[in-house]
Amino acid sequence: MEKKVVKEIKKPKKTKRDLSTVTGMRDILPQDQKYWERVREVAKQISKDYDYERIDTPILEYSELFVRGVGSQTDIVEKEMFSFVDQGGDSLVLRPEGTASVVRAYIQHGLLNHTQPVKFFYEGPLFRHEKPQSGRYRQFFQFGFEAIGEDNPALDAQLILMGWNSLNDLGIESVIQVNSIGCKECREEYKKALVKYYKTKSKLLCENCKNKMGRNPLRLLDCKEEGCRSLREDSPQILDYLDDACKNHFMKVIGYLDELDLPYVLNPYIVRGLDYYTRTIFEYWAIDDVEGKNALGGGGRYDGLIKILGGREETPACGLAMGMDRIVAKMREKNIEVPEERIDVFVAQLGDAAKKKAMVMYENLRKNGSFTVSQAFHKDSLKKQLEIANKMRVKFTLIIGQKEVGDGTIMLRDMQGGVQEVIDFNKIERELKKRLEKYNEGAVIDLTQNEESENKIEMSGNISSEIESLEDQKEDIEEIEKLDLEK
Ligand code: ATP
Ligand code: MG
Repeated sequence: MEKKVVKEIKKPKKTKRDLSTVTGMRDILPQDQKYWERVREVAKQISKDYDYERIDTPILEYSELFVRGVGSQTDIVEKEMFSFVDQGGDSLVLRPEGTASVVRAYIQHGLLNHTQPVKFFYEGPLFRHEKPQSGRYRQFFQFGFEAIGEDNPALDAQLILMGWNSLNDLGIESVIQVNSIGCKECREEYKKALVKYYKTKSKLLCENCKNKMGRNPLRLLDCKEEGCRSLREDSPQILDYLDDACKNHFMKVIGYLDELDLPYVLNPYIVRGLDYYTRTIFEYWAIDDVEGKNALGGGGRYDGLIKILGGREETPACGLAMGMDRIVAKMREKNIEVPEERIDVFVAQLGDAAKKKAMVMYENLRKNGSFTVSQAFHKDSLKKQLEIANKMRVKFTLIIGQKEVGDGTIMLRDMQGGVQEVIDFNKIERELKKRLEKYNEGAVIDLTQNEESENKIEMSGNISSEIESLEDQKEDIEEIEKLDLEK
Protein backbone atom coordinates (compact mmCIF):
# COMPACT_ATOMS: atom_id res chain seq x y z
CA MET A 1 0.00 0.00 0.00
CA GLU A 2 1.46 3.34 -0.93
CA LYS A 3 2.59 5.51 1.94
CA LYS A 4 1.09 8.92 2.17
CA VAL A 5 0.99 11.41 4.95
CA VAL A 6 -2.65 12.28 5.43
CA LYS A 7 -2.58 14.15 8.66
CA GLU A 8 0.10 15.71 10.79
CA ILE A 9 0.00 15.07 14.50
CA LYS A 10 -1.23 18.14 16.32
CA LYS A 11 0.57 19.37 19.39
CA PRO A 12 -0.78 17.48 22.35
CA LYS A 13 -3.33 19.30 24.45
CA LYS A 14 -2.41 19.91 28.01
CA THR A 15 -2.19 16.62 29.82
CA LYS A 16 -5.27 15.60 31.72
CA ARG A 17 -4.60 14.96 35.35
CA ASP A 18 -7.03 12.16 36.00
CA LEU A 19 -6.10 8.91 34.35
CA SER A 20 -9.50 7.70 33.31
CA THR A 21 -10.43 6.20 29.92
CA VAL A 22 -9.96 8.22 26.74
CA THR A 23 -13.11 10.16 25.71
CA GLY A 24 -15.63 7.88 24.02
CA MET A 25 -13.88 4.70 25.16
CA ARG A 26 -14.86 2.43 28.00
CA ASP A 27 -13.98 -0.64 29.99
CA ILE A 28 -16.07 -3.75 29.72
CA LEU A 29 -16.01 -5.12 33.24
CA PRO A 30 -16.08 -8.81 34.18
CA GLN A 31 -19.73 -8.66 35.25
CA ASP A 32 -20.75 -7.51 31.76
CA GLN A 33 -18.70 -10.08 29.89
CA LYS A 34 -21.46 -12.68 29.82
CA TYR A 35 -23.42 -10.58 27.31
CA TRP A 36 -20.39 -10.11 25.09
CA GLU A 37 -19.50 -13.76 25.34
CA ARG A 38 -23.03 -14.69 24.29
CA VAL A 39 -22.93 -12.34 21.27
CA ARG A 40 -19.57 -13.77 20.20
CA GLU A 41 -20.89 -17.29 20.65
CA VAL A 42 -23.92 -16.64 18.45
CA ALA A 43 -21.81 -14.89 15.80
CA LYS A 44 -19.43 -17.84 15.74
CA GLN A 45 -22.26 -20.33 15.43
CA ILE A 46 -23.78 -18.37 12.52
CA SER A 47 -20.38 -18.26 10.81
CA LYS A 48 -20.21 -22.05 11.05
CA ASP A 49 -23.80 -22.57 9.94
CA TYR A 50 -23.13 -20.69 6.70
CA ASP A 51 -19.45 -21.59 6.15
CA TYR A 52 -17.74 -18.30 6.85
CA GLU A 53 -14.16 -18.64 8.06
CA ARG A 54 -12.52 -16.50 10.69
CA ILE A 55 -10.06 -13.82 9.67
CA ASP A 56 -8.19 -11.41 11.92
CA THR A 57 -6.68 -8.32 10.38
CA PRO A 58 -4.44 -5.81 12.16
CA ILE A 59 -5.92 -2.92 14.04
CA LEU A 60 -3.46 -0.53 12.40
CA GLU A 61 -3.59 -0.04 8.64
CA TYR A 62 -2.21 2.55 6.26
CA SER A 63 -4.57 5.53 6.10
CA GLU A 64 -4.61 5.21 2.34
CA LEU A 65 -6.58 1.95 2.56
CA PHE A 66 -9.61 3.75 3.95
CA VAL A 67 -9.13 6.98 1.98
CA ARG A 68 -9.30 4.91 -1.19
CA GLY A 69 -11.61 2.18 0.01
CA VAL A 70 -14.23 3.93 2.09
CA GLY A 71 -13.99 7.19 0.10
CA SER A 72 -12.54 10.59 0.85
CA GLN A 73 -15.97 12.24 0.90
CA THR A 74 -17.40 10.01 3.60
CA ASP A 75 -17.95 10.92 7.25
CA ILE A 76 -15.55 8.21 8.31
CA VAL A 77 -12.62 9.52 6.30
CA GLU A 78 -13.42 13.22 6.53
CA LYS A 79 -13.98 13.40 10.26
CA GLU A 80 -13.78 10.15 12.11
CA MET A 81 -10.43 8.50 11.56
CA PHE A 82 -7.96 8.15 14.39
CA SER A 83 -4.90 8.75 12.24
CA PHE A 84 -1.34 9.63 13.05
CA VAL A 85 2.11 9.62 11.56
CA ASP A 86 4.34 7.03 13.18
CA GLN A 87 8.07 7.22 13.96
CA GLY A 88 8.86 5.94 10.47
CA GLY A 89 6.82 8.66 8.77
CA ASP A 90 3.96 6.36 7.74
CA SER A 91 0.44 7.64 8.00
CA LEU A 92 -1.47 5.03 9.94
CA VAL A 93 -5.01 4.73 11.15
CA LEU A 94 -6.80 2.70 13.80
CA ARG A 95 -9.18 0.77 11.55
CA PRO A 96 -12.58 2.50 11.40
CA GLU A 97 -14.37 -0.43 9.73
CA GLY A 98 -13.70 -4.02 8.74
CA THR A 99 -14.55 -4.46 5.06
CA ALA A 100 -11.63 -2.56 3.51
CA SER A 101 -9.16 -4.56 5.65
CA VAL A 102 -10.72 -7.89 4.68
CA VAL A 103 -10.61 -6.93 1.00
CA ARG A 104 -6.97 -5.86 1.40
CA ALA A 105 -6.20 -9.28 2.89
CA TYR A 106 -8.08 -11.03 0.06
CA ILE A 107 -5.96 -9.22 -2.53
CA GLN A 108 -2.66 -9.34 -0.63
CA HIS A 109 -2.84 -13.12 -0.12
CA GLY A 110 -3.99 -13.92 -3.64
CA LEU A 111 -7.28 -15.38 -2.44
CA LEU A 112 -8.82 -14.36 -5.73
CA ASN A 113 -7.29 -17.56 -7.08
CA HIS A 114 -9.23 -19.72 -4.63
CA THR A 115 -12.71 -21.10 -5.17
CA GLN A 116 -15.06 -18.14 -5.11
CA PRO A 117 -16.71 -16.77 -3.12
CA VAL A 118 -14.21 -16.62 -0.28
CA LYS A 119 -16.26 -16.18 2.87
CA PHE A 120 -14.88 -14.42 5.92
CA PHE A 121 -16.04 -13.90 9.46
CA TYR A 122 -14.43 -11.33 11.75
CA GLU A 123 -14.95 -9.79 15.13
CA GLY A 124 -13.09 -7.08 16.97
CA PRO A 125 -12.69 -3.41 17.84
CA LEU A 126 -13.10 -0.46 15.47
CA PHE A 127 -12.27 3.19 16.10
CA ARG A 128 -14.09 6.31 14.98
CA HIS A 129 -13.60 9.81 16.31
CA GLU A 130 -17.32 10.54 16.58
CA LYS A 131 -19.21 12.68 19.04
CA PRO A 132 -19.67 10.30 21.96
CA GLN A 133 -23.29 9.68 22.95
CA SER A 134 -25.45 6.78 23.93
CA GLY A 135 -24.84 3.89 21.54
CA ARG A 136 -21.94 5.69 19.94
CA TYR A 137 -18.40 5.14 21.13
CA ARG A 138 -14.95 5.92 19.80
CA GLN A 139 -13.87 2.35 20.32
CA PHE A 140 -16.68 -0.03 19.51
CA PHE A 141 -16.98 -3.64 18.43
CA GLN A 142 -18.42 -5.35 15.43
CA PHE A 143 -18.73 -8.84 14.11
CA GLY A 144 -19.15 -9.19 10.42
CA PHE A 145 -19.33 -11.47 7.43
CA GLU A 146 -17.91 -10.83 3.96
CA ALA A 147 -18.37 -12.99 0.86
CA ILE A 148 -15.99 -11.99 -1.93
CA GLY A 149 -16.13 -13.16 -5.55
CA GLU A 150 -19.80 -13.83 -6.24
CA ASP A 151 -22.69 -11.70 -7.45
CA ASN A 152 -25.54 -14.17 -7.10
CA PRO A 153 -28.51 -12.48 -5.36
CA ALA A 154 -28.96 -15.60 -3.19
CA LEU A 155 -25.79 -14.54 -1.42
CA ASP A 156 -27.20 -11.08 -0.64
CA ALA A 157 -30.35 -12.68 0.75
CA GLN A 158 -28.39 -15.19 2.77
CA LEU A 159 -26.23 -12.47 4.31
CA ILE A 160 -29.35 -10.50 5.19
CA LEU A 161 -30.71 -13.65 6.78
CA MET A 162 -27.47 -14.26 8.73
CA GLY A 163 -27.59 -10.83 10.36
CA TRP A 164 -31.25 -11.22 11.18
CA ASN A 165 -30.69 -14.73 12.54
CA SER A 166 -27.92 -13.56 14.82
CA LEU A 167 -30.23 -10.95 16.38
CA ASN A 168 -33.08 -13.42 16.56
CA ASP A 169 -30.90 -16.09 18.20
CA LEU A 170 -29.97 -13.49 20.81
CA GLY A 171 -33.62 -12.77 21.49
CA ILE A 172 -33.71 -9.36 19.76
CA GLU A 173 -36.65 -8.60 17.49
CA SER A 174 -35.62 -6.56 14.48
CA VAL A 175 -36.91 -5.36 11.15
CA ILE A 176 -34.71 -5.40 8.07
CA GLN A 177 -34.57 -2.18 6.07
CA VAL A 178 -33.60 -2.95 2.51
CA ASN A 179 -32.90 -0.89 -0.58
CA SER A 180 -30.86 -0.96 -3.76
CA ILE A 181 -28.62 1.91 -4.80
CA GLY A 182 -27.87 0.31 -8.16
CA CYS A 183 -24.52 0.17 -9.85
CA LYS A 184 -22.22 3.10 -10.46
CA GLU A 185 -23.95 3.96 -13.74
CA CYS A 186 -27.54 4.05 -12.52
CA ARG A 187 -26.49 5.82 -9.35
CA GLU A 188 -24.87 8.66 -11.33
CA GLU A 189 -28.19 9.37 -13.03
CA TYR A 190 -29.98 9.24 -9.73
CA LYS A 191 -27.51 11.57 -8.03
CA LYS A 192 -28.08 14.14 -10.77
CA ALA A 193 -31.85 13.92 -10.25
CA LEU A 194 -31.42 14.29 -6.51
CA VAL A 195 -29.22 17.36 -6.77
CA LYS A 196 -31.70 18.90 -9.21
CA TYR A 197 -34.54 18.29 -6.76
CA TYR A 198 -32.73 19.52 -3.65
CA LYS A 199 -31.30 22.60 -5.37
CA THR A 200 -34.78 24.08 -5.51
CA LYS A 201 -35.15 23.48 -1.75
CA SER A 202 -31.64 24.27 -0.59
CA LYS A 203 -32.80 27.07 1.73
CA LEU A 204 -34.78 24.53 3.74
CA LEU A 205 -31.88 22.11 4.21
CA CYS A 206 -29.76 21.85 7.35
CA GLU A 207 -26.17 23.13 7.12
CA ASN A 208 -24.76 19.62 6.95
CA CYS A 209 -27.00 18.67 4.03
CA LYS A 210 -26.23 21.89 2.19
CA ASN A 211 -22.61 20.90 2.45
CA LYS A 212 -23.20 17.37 1.29
CA MET A 213 -25.32 18.28 -1.70
CA GLY A 214 -22.45 18.73 -4.14
CA ARG A 215 -20.30 15.92 -2.81
CA ASN A 216 -22.43 13.10 -1.46
CA PRO A 217 -26.08 13.86 -2.30
CA LEU A 218 -27.29 10.37 -1.33
CA ARG A 219 -26.59 11.21 2.29
CA LEU A 220 -29.31 13.89 2.18
CA LEU A 221 -31.82 11.07 2.25
CA ASP A 222 -30.76 9.69 5.60
CA CYS A 223 -30.42 13.02 7.41
CA LYS A 224 -32.07 12.79 10.82
CA GLU A 225 -33.16 16.49 10.90
CA GLU A 226 -36.92 16.97 10.81
CA GLY A 227 -36.85 19.61 8.02
CA CYS A 228 -34.71 17.47 5.75
CA ARG A 229 -36.77 14.39 6.49
CA SER A 230 -39.97 16.01 5.31
CA LEU A 231 -38.28 17.21 2.11
CA ARG A 232 -37.26 13.74 1.09
CA GLU A 233 -40.89 12.60 0.83
CA ASP A 234 -41.16 14.15 -2.65
CA SER A 235 -37.61 13.40 -3.73
CA PRO A 236 -36.90 11.17 -6.73
CA GLN A 237 -36.75 7.47 -5.84
CA ILE A 238 -33.72 5.34 -6.62
CA LEU A 239 -35.82 2.36 -7.67
CA ASP A 240 -37.05 4.38 -10.67
CA TYR A 241 -33.44 4.82 -11.78
CA LEU A 242 -32.22 1.23 -11.61
CA ASP A 243 -31.22 -0.31 -14.93
CA ASP A 244 -32.65 -3.69 -15.88
CA ALA A 245 -29.77 -5.75 -14.52
CA CYS A 246 -29.80 -3.97 -11.14
CA LYS A 247 -33.58 -4.10 -10.92
CA ASN A 248 -33.56 -7.80 -11.73
CA HIS A 249 -30.90 -8.51 -9.15
CA PHE A 250 -32.84 -6.61 -6.50
CA MET A 251 -36.13 -8.32 -7.32
CA LYS A 252 -34.44 -11.68 -6.86
CA VAL A 253 -33.05 -10.67 -3.46
CA ILE A 254 -36.52 -9.55 -2.40
CA GLY A 255 -38.00 -12.79 -3.74
CA TYR A 256 -35.70 -14.82 -1.46
CA LEU A 257 -36.53 -12.64 1.54
CA ASP A 258 -40.24 -13.27 0.88
CA GLU A 259 -39.64 -16.98 0.57
CA LEU A 260 -37.71 -16.99 3.86
CA ASP A 261 -40.57 -15.03 5.42
CA LEU A 262 -38.22 -12.41 6.84
CA PRO A 263 -39.65 -9.19 8.31
CA TYR A 264 -38.33 -6.51 5.97
CA VAL A 265 -39.42 -3.15 4.62
CA LEU A 266 -38.34 -1.58 1.37
CA ASN A 267 -36.81 1.65 2.58
CA PRO A 268 -35.75 3.98 -0.24
CA TYR A 269 -34.01 6.30 2.24
CA ILE A 270 -31.42 3.79 3.38
CA VAL A 271 -28.26 4.83 1.57
CA ARG A 272 -25.41 3.84 3.94
CA GLY A 273 -22.52 6.13 4.58
CA LEU A 274 -19.76 4.48 2.62
CA ASP A 275 -18.82 5.05 -1.01
CA TYR A 276 -18.16 1.46 -1.88
CA TYR A 277 -21.70 0.12 -1.77
CA THR A 278 -23.50 -1.00 -4.92
CA ARG A 279 -26.91 -2.58 -5.45
CA THR A 280 -28.36 -4.23 -2.31
CA ILE A 281 -27.95 -2.36 0.97
CA PHE A 282 -29.64 -3.10 4.27
CA GLU A 283 -29.81 -2.25 7.94
CA TYR A 284 -31.27 -3.90 11.01
CA TRP A 285 -33.44 -1.79 13.26
CA ALA A 286 -34.74 -3.02 16.58
CA ILE A 287 -38.50 -3.40 16.37
CA ASP A 288 -39.01 -0.39 18.68
CA ASP A 289 -36.46 1.85 16.91
CA VAL A 290 -38.89 3.09 14.27
CA GLU A 291 -36.66 5.87 12.95
CA GLY A 292 -33.51 3.79 12.90
CA LYS A 293 -31.60 6.13 15.19
CA ASN A 294 -29.64 3.22 16.61
CA ALA A 295 -29.22 0.71 13.82
CA LEU A 296 -27.94 -2.60 15.17
CA GLY A 297 -26.07 -3.45 12.02
CA GLY A 298 -26.00 -3.09 8.30
CA GLY A 299 -24.29 -4.06 5.13
CA GLY A 300 -24.58 -4.46 1.44
CA ARG A 301 -22.97 -5.30 -1.84
CA TYR A 302 -19.69 -3.68 -2.80
CA ASP A 303 -18.91 -4.89 -6.30
CA GLY A 304 -16.48 -2.07 -7.05
CA LEU A 305 -14.28 -2.15 -3.97
CA ILE A 306 -11.91 -4.96 -4.91
CA LYS A 307 -10.81 -3.13 -8.03
CA ILE A 308 -10.49 0.19 -6.18
CA LEU A 309 -8.08 -1.48 -3.77
CA GLY A 310 -5.97 -2.98 -6.55
CA GLY A 311 -7.67 -6.34 -7.10
CA ARG A 312 -8.95 -7.97 -10.24
CA GLU A 313 -11.74 -6.29 -12.14
CA GLU A 314 -15.23 -7.74 -11.86
CA THR A 315 -14.91 -9.13 -8.38
CA PRO A 316 -18.35 -8.77 -6.87
CA ALA A 317 -18.77 -9.00 -3.10
CA CYS A 318 -21.28 -8.58 -0.33
CA GLY A 319 -21.06 -8.29 3.45
CA LEU A 320 -22.47 -7.02 6.69
CA ALA A 321 -21.34 -5.73 10.07
CA MET A 322 -23.22 -5.89 13.35
CA GLY A 323 -22.66 -3.38 16.15
CA MET A 324 -21.94 -5.45 19.25
CA ASP A 325 -22.14 -2.52 21.70
CA ARG A 326 -25.66 -1.69 20.59
CA ILE A 327 -26.66 -5.34 20.56
CA VAL A 328 -25.46 -5.78 24.15
CA ALA A 329 -27.27 -2.57 25.18
CA LYS A 330 -30.47 -3.88 23.61
CA MET A 331 -30.14 -7.23 25.38
CA ARG A 332 -29.82 -5.43 28.70
CA GLU A 333 -32.66 -3.04 27.94
CA LYS A 334 -34.93 -5.99 27.15
CA ASN A 335 -33.71 -7.98 30.16
CA ILE A 336 -32.71 -10.81 27.91
CA GLU A 337 -31.44 -13.66 30.05
CA VAL A 338 -28.01 -14.95 29.19
CA PRO A 339 -27.67 -18.63 30.02
CA GLU A 340 -24.79 -18.86 32.45
CA GLU A 341 -22.63 -21.87 32.29
CA ARG A 342 -22.31 -23.48 35.68
CA ILE A 343 -18.91 -24.75 36.72
CA ASP A 344 -18.93 -28.53 37.16
CA VAL A 345 -16.64 -28.96 40.11
CA PHE A 346 -15.01 -26.84 42.78
CA VAL A 347 -12.02 -28.20 44.66
CA ALA A 348 -11.91 -27.23 48.33
CA GLN A 349 -9.16 -28.10 50.78
CA LEU A 350 -8.44 -27.91 54.47
CA GLY A 351 -4.95 -28.02 55.93
CA ASP A 352 -1.52 -27.82 54.36
CA ALA A 353 -1.12 -31.41 53.25
CA ALA A 354 -4.62 -31.39 51.75
CA LYS A 355 -3.91 -28.17 49.88
CA LYS A 356 -0.87 -29.72 48.23
CA LYS A 357 -2.79 -32.80 47.23
CA ALA A 358 -5.73 -30.70 46.02
CA MET A 359 -3.48 -28.59 43.82
CA VAL A 360 -2.13 -31.64 42.03
CA MET A 361 -5.60 -33.15 41.74
CA TYR A 362 -6.89 -29.89 40.29
CA GLU A 363 -4.35 -30.05 37.49
CA ASN A 364 -5.48 -33.60 36.65
CA LEU A 365 -9.13 -32.60 36.59
CA ARG A 366 -8.34 -29.58 34.46
CA LYS A 367 -6.37 -31.66 31.96
CA ASN A 368 -9.03 -34.34 31.85
CA GLY A 369 -11.06 -31.95 29.72
CA SER A 370 -14.41 -33.46 30.69
CA PHE A 371 -15.09 -30.99 33.49
CA THR A 372 -15.07 -27.28 34.06
CA VAL A 373 -13.22 -26.65 37.31
CA SER A 374 -12.69 -23.94 39.88
CA GLN A 375 -10.90 -23.45 43.19
CA ALA A 376 -9.80 -20.91 45.78
CA PHE A 377 -6.45 -22.24 46.94
CA HIS A 378 -5.57 -18.77 48.21
CA LYS A 379 -8.09 -19.33 51.00
CA ASP A 380 -7.36 -21.53 54.02
CA SER A 381 -10.79 -21.35 55.57
CA LEU A 382 -13.16 -24.06 54.35
CA LYS A 383 -16.10 -21.85 55.14
CA LYS A 384 -14.81 -19.13 52.81
CA GLN A 385 -14.09 -21.63 50.06
CA LEU A 386 -17.56 -23.10 50.25
CA GLU A 387 -19.07 -19.66 50.20
CA ILE A 388 -17.18 -18.96 46.98
CA ALA A 389 -18.32 -22.29 45.51
CA ASN A 390 -21.90 -21.48 46.43
CA LYS A 391 -21.72 -18.04 44.87
CA MET A 392 -20.37 -19.54 41.67
CA ARG A 393 -23.30 -21.96 41.73
CA VAL A 394 -20.99 -24.89 41.01
CA LYS A 395 -22.61 -28.27 40.52
CA PHE A 396 -20.29 -30.32 42.76
CA THR A 397 -17.58 -29.65 45.31
CA LEU A 398 -14.76 -32.00 46.18
CA ILE A 399 -13.54 -31.49 49.74
CA ILE A 400 -10.24 -32.83 50.90
CA GLY A 401 -9.11 -32.59 54.54
CA GLN A 402 -6.41 -34.07 56.77
CA LYS A 403 -8.26 -37.32 57.25
CA GLU A 404 -8.92 -37.77 53.55
CA VAL A 405 -5.25 -37.28 52.77
CA GLY A 406 -4.50 -40.07 55.20
CA ASP A 407 -7.02 -42.62 54.01
CA GLY A 408 -7.05 -41.86 50.30
CA THR A 409 -10.64 -40.68 50.10
CA ILE A 410 -12.37 -37.43 49.22
CA MET A 411 -15.72 -35.91 50.02
CA LEU A 412 -18.00 -35.22 47.06
CA ARG A 413 -20.80 -32.79 47.68
CA ASP A 414 -23.76 -32.31 45.40
CA MET A 415 -24.31 -28.59 45.82
CA GLN A 416 -27.90 -28.67 44.67
CA GLY A 417 -29.20 -31.50 46.83
CA GLY A 418 -26.80 -30.87 49.70
CA VAL A 419 -25.88 -34.55 49.80
CA GLN A 420 -22.33 -35.59 50.63
CA GLU A 421 -20.56 -38.85 50.19
CA VAL A 422 -17.08 -40.14 50.57
CA ILE A 423 -15.48 -41.66 47.53
CA ASP A 424 -12.20 -43.33 46.77
CA PHE A 425 -9.58 -40.79 45.71
CA ASN A 426 -8.63 -42.88 42.68
CA LYS A 427 -12.20 -42.98 41.42
CA ILE A 428 -12.82 -39.23 41.44
CA GLU A 429 -12.87 -38.70 37.69
CA ARG A 430 -15.09 -41.70 37.01
CA GLU A 431 -17.52 -40.84 39.80
CA LEU A 432 -17.70 -37.20 38.75
CA LYS A 433 -18.37 -38.07 35.14
CA LYS A 434 -21.21 -40.34 36.16
CA ARG A 435 -22.85 -37.75 38.35
CA LEU A 436 -22.45 -35.01 35.80
CA GLU A 437 -24.10 -37.11 33.14
CA LYS A 438 -27.07 -37.57 35.43
CA TYR A 439 -27.01 -33.92 36.38
CA ASN A 440 -27.01 -32.84 32.75
CA GLU A 441 -29.91 -35.17 32.00
CA GLY A 442 -31.76 -33.22 34.65
CA ALA A 443 -32.12 -36.31 36.84
CA VAL A 444 -32.25 -35.93 40.60
CA ILE A 445 -29.17 -37.64 41.87
CA ASP A 446 -30.15 -40.19 44.42
CA LEU A 447 -26.95 -41.41 45.94
CA THR A 448 -28.69 -44.11 47.94
CA GLN A 449 -29.39 -45.88 44.64
CA ASN A 450 -25.74 -45.90 43.72
CA GLU A 451 -24.12 -49.18 44.58
CA GLU A 452 -20.64 -47.76 44.28
CA SER A 453 -21.28 -45.28 47.08
CA GLU A 454 -20.73 -47.40 50.06
CA ASN A 455 -19.89 -44.65 52.48
CA LYS A 456 -22.68 -42.13 52.45
CA ILE A 457 -23.33 -39.18 54.63
CA GLU A 458 -26.69 -37.52 54.35
CA MET A 459 -26.58 -33.99 55.57
CA SER A 460 -29.55 -31.79 56.05
CA GLY A 461 -29.59 -28.30 54.56
CA ASN A 462 -26.84 -26.47 52.87
CA ILE A 463 -23.23 -26.86 53.87
CA SER A 464 -22.59 -23.16 54.02
CA SER A 465 -25.41 -22.71 56.49
CA GLU A 466 -24.07 -25.59 58.52
CA ILE A 467 -20.68 -24.05 58.78
CA GLU A 468 -21.95 -20.53 59.22
CA SER A 469 -21.20 -20.79 62.88
CA LEU A 470 -17.59 -21.52 62.14
CA GLU A 471 -15.51 -18.53 62.92
CA ASP A 472 -12.09 -19.51 61.81
CA GLN A 473 -10.14 -22.28 60.28
CA LYS A 474 -9.71 -24.07 63.59
CA GLU A 475 -13.41 -24.50 63.74
CA ASP A 476 -13.44 -25.61 60.12
CA ILE A 477 -11.03 -28.35 61.00
CA GLU A 478 -13.14 -29.44 63.93
CA GLU A 479 -16.15 -29.48 61.69
CA ILE A 480 -14.63 -31.54 58.96
CA GLU A 481 -13.15 -33.89 61.49
CA LYS A 482 -16.58 -34.26 63.00
CA LEU A 483 -17.89 -35.16 59.55
CA ASP A 484 -15.10 -37.68 59.19
CA LEU A 485 -15.99 -39.24 62.54
CA GLU A 486 -19.61 -39.57 61.54
CA LYS A 487 -18.65 -41.87 58.70
P1 ATP B 1 -24.70 4.99 12.11
O1 ATP B 1 -25.58 5.39 10.96
O2 ATP B 1 -25.45 4.62 13.35
O3 ATP B 1 -23.57 5.95 12.34
P2 ATP B 1 -22.96 3.47 10.46
O4 ATP B 1 -23.68 3.39 9.16
O5 ATP B 1 -21.86 4.46 10.61
O6 ATP B 1 -24.01 3.62 11.66
P3 ATP B 1 -21.68 0.95 10.01
O7 ATP B 1 -20.39 1.49 9.60
O8 ATP B 1 -22.55 0.36 9.00
O9 ATP B 1 -22.45 2.04 10.87
O10 ATP B 1 -21.47 -0.12 11.18
C1 ATP B 1 -22.41 -1.17 11.45
C2 ATP B 1 -22.92 -1.07 12.86
O11 ATP B 1 -21.89 -0.76 13.78
C3 ATP B 1 -23.94 0.04 13.09
O12 ATP B 1 -25.21 -0.36 12.68
C4 ATP B 1 -23.85 0.21 14.59
O13 ATP B 1 -24.62 -0.76 15.26
C5 ATP B 1 -22.40 -0.03 14.87
N1 ATP B 1 -21.68 1.26 15.04
C6 ATP B 1 -21.25 2.11 14.09
N2 ATP B 1 -20.63 3.16 14.63
C7 ATP B 1 -20.64 2.95 15.98
C8 ATP B 1 -20.15 3.67 17.11
N3 ATP B 1 -19.48 4.80 16.96
N4 ATP B 1 -20.37 3.16 18.35
C9 ATP B 1 -21.04 2.00 18.51
N5 ATP B 1 -21.51 1.28 17.50
C10 ATP B 1 -21.33 1.74 16.24
MG1 MG C 1 -21.70 6.35 11.45
